[in-house]
Amino acid sequence: MEERPCQPCGGLRVTEHTEHTVETDENGNQRPVIRQWTGLCGACGGSGVVYQ
Ligand SMILES: [Zn+2]
Repeated sequence: MEERPCQPCGGLRVTEHTEHTVETDENGNQRPVIRQWTGLCGACGGSGVVYQ
């Protein structure tokens, strides 16, 4: 087992997440919404390293 920097987040511990949803506005119209946020990397669990 060797400790390596996490590839998906590059060792930064966080990654960009994108979520596509459909919301209904006040007029009852459905429109697509894309939400983006920076959150904990799912590949390394926020540690920044993986063990291989
Ligand atoms: Zn990571």
